[in-house]
Amino acid sequence: MGKVIGIDLGTTNSVVAYIDRGEPKVIINEEGGRVTPSVVGFSKSGERFVGDTAKRQMLINPDATIHSVKRFMGKRFVDAGNDLPLVNYPVVASRNGDCAFAVNDRLLTPQEVSAMILQKLKKSAEDFLGEPVTEAIITVPAHFNDRQRQATKDAGTIAGLHVLRIINEPTAAALAYLHDRKKSATIAVYDFGGGTFDISIVRIDRDVGEVRATRGNNALGGGDIDKLIVDWLIEQFRQEHRIDVSQDNVVRQRLRDAAERAKIELSSAKETDIHLPFLMADASGPRHLQCVLTRATFEALAAPLIDGTVRECRQALLDANLTVGEIDEIVLVGGSSRIPRVKEAMREFFGRPLNQSLNPDEVVAIGAAVQAGVLEGEVKAVTLLDVTSLSLGIEVEGRKMAKLIPKNTPIPAQKMQLVSTVVDNQKTVKIHVLQGESVSAVENTSLGEFELQGIEPAPRSVPRIEIKFAIDASGLVQVSARDVRTGSVQQLTIQAPSGMSSRDVERARDDASTWERGAEAASEVRELRHQIERQLGQMEALLRDQRTRLQRADVQEAEHALTRGRLALTKNDDRAKLEEVHGWLRRMLTGLGEKVNAGR
Ligand code: AMP
Repeated sequence: MGKVIGIDLGTTNSVVAYIDRGEPKVIINEEGGRVTPSVVGFSKSGERFVGDTAKRQMLINPDATIHSVKRFMGKRFVDAGNDLPLVNYPVVASRNGDCAFAVNDRLLTPQEVSAMILQKLKKSAEDFLGEPVTEAIITVPAHFNDRQRQATKDAGTIAGLHVLRIINEPTAAALAYLHDRKKSATIAVYDFGGGTFDISIVRIDRDVGEVRATRGNNALGGGDIDKLIVDWLIEQFRQEHRIDVSQDNVVRQRLRDAAERAKIELSSAKETDIHLPFLMADASGPRHLQCVLTRATFEALAAPLIDGTVRECRQALLDANLTVGEIDEIVLVGGSSRIPRVKEAMREFFGRPLNQSLNPDEVVAIGAAVQAGVLEGEVKAVTLLDVTSLSLGIEVEGRKMAKLIPKNTPIPAQKMQLVSTVVDNQKTVKIHVLQGESVSAVENTSLGEFELQGIEPAPRSVPRIEIKFAIDASGLVQVSARDVRTGSVQQLTIQAPSGMSSRDVERARDDASTWERGAEAASEVRELRHQIERQLGQMEALLRDQRTRLQRADVQEAEHALTRGRLALTKNDDRAKLEEVHGWLRRMLTGLGEKVNAGR
């Protein structure tokens, strides 16, 4: 078995780690970085960039550069209202009502775009480890529902990864803590990233961790703070120039970029200059944006969001049946936890110093690698018992939700429910499965309508069908049914399939692996062309510097080689032809070099 990698598939950045002789290590990507921006860019000619290169093209090509894809994973378009203002590329509703991206006349699902990021991380890991990688643990926000988890797993499959387990990000951070410390404590893991927020309360007893409660918000992260600064900047510009730039996509992208930089600068400085020359032009000429954002103004803007995270912490303690005084340590995770006001709010709320010894950018991937090590048998004596962050239930009379597995139940978990018919000879029964906390069915997430078929004719209430609702260790929901009288397994079909069907996933996986093979071939061709260009340079230098030492026939041969080589570069991308020219030039350069040396 090859190495199992641990992946923190973040909204803003992703990190991949593995276990090396019992210790977790972060994998360095092709660009030499420890983190890879979760950004995918497309050029008009169909080229694809992932990571740093894609992030660089974001300003010049905002329509075809997808970032923050995680906010759209497994999400219905009607539920994406809060996410749409955070991005400048076109998000549309796909045929099944889920979010999709319209890029260069193609419709891409969030799963496919996430898979492109995962493919890049997989390749980095393979280059780094020098062996194929096919298995992974991927982390998700604790508050991800079943649709979002399934979408993440599908993204892994599309990227050619067998996802052994999905684990919650704060749980992964707790695992990293557990691996590092091995001491008993009750910790609060405060995870404030680019797009999501989670708080988990974890009890650690030497080498066993137990999540007591977890809460969060999948639509609250650094991107939302940036949006508040962008709105503030638009207002500053409007006041000064009496022009509204809020509808201009390129301007918005520049503002977003400046807002994020200003926010990060304010983590160490007390104020920052925001200067965007030529933000736009009108009849009276170019207009510039120039203003100062102080930390105090920034904190006032971000206060409602930060206060929201404190409220969640308070609620998580109540859910865990603990008081503030019973928390021994606070572990900060995620880039947004670097904001000074966030740290201050945490110190104030918990009334103790914060644990800042774990790198907030890497701790989740490290924890995922620890989990990978546990499954591989390389890491021993570390166990973490997780809980489900959302209640699972079914729709009952009055469009209400009846909870079957309440939130904060340890997973894996299962619950049996007996159902019957309401009219004589009823052949089918519909079960609408929901996830969420509201008593009203419509306010929760619909995971699908399952239809029980083939019920034998009988008077009403006589058939007894046992439905099993299960949540596995990855937080994924499975529903199955059994006829109690006959013991036969009932057929269940999903009426409202969520996300991509297994056939769609397979097709996307084939496309992705074809693309990968194509990309590899294209990169080999690029490398060959580069080699030939170098050889032609050497040939030119030889003709320039050593012409007098060569016979006329050799000079002619060299000039012919130059022409043939240049022609090969302009004319074709055929790998076999280029290889032939490359080999021929190599032999010729060696031969001519020998003649020059012999003539000295
Ligand atoms: P993550 O999802 O953990 O990679 O966090 C990314 C988010 O953290 C983005 O919104 C970043 O703008 C934000 N971030 C990163 N570094 C800092 C910093 N020093 N101060 C404030 N926010 C930061």
